[in-house]
Amino acid sequence: MIENIELEKCTGCGICDVVCPADVIHMEPQPVATEIKGLRQTRLLPVIKFREHCITCFSCEIFCPEHIVDVHPSVKNRPRPW
Ligand code: SF4
Ligand code: SF4
Repeated sequence: MIENIELEKCTGCGICDVVCPADVIHMEPQPVATEIKGLRQTRLLPVIKFREHCITCFSCEIFCPEHIVDVHPSVKNRPRPW
């Protein structure tokens, strides 16, 4: 099951969202710090939205170019051939 995404190293590419077959990860606007006082800025970052739907396929971990997604092996929710 997906455990963590190191957001401080995330580039916001959105690949983890695209490759997830269970729609667990969603790209959502998150506030970012700016040097200009009063200016509010956001950027898209991944959110683990429906963790309980994770089927532990490892796609997000494998395809993340920054290698910052952590998926732990688990038999829970895993598709079985029987
Ligand atoms: S391990 Fe698979 S199902 Fe789980 S969040 Fe990653 S891509 Fe989605
Ligand atoms: S694939 Fe990796 S770098 Fe790209 S948005 Fe997801 S966690 Fe961030």
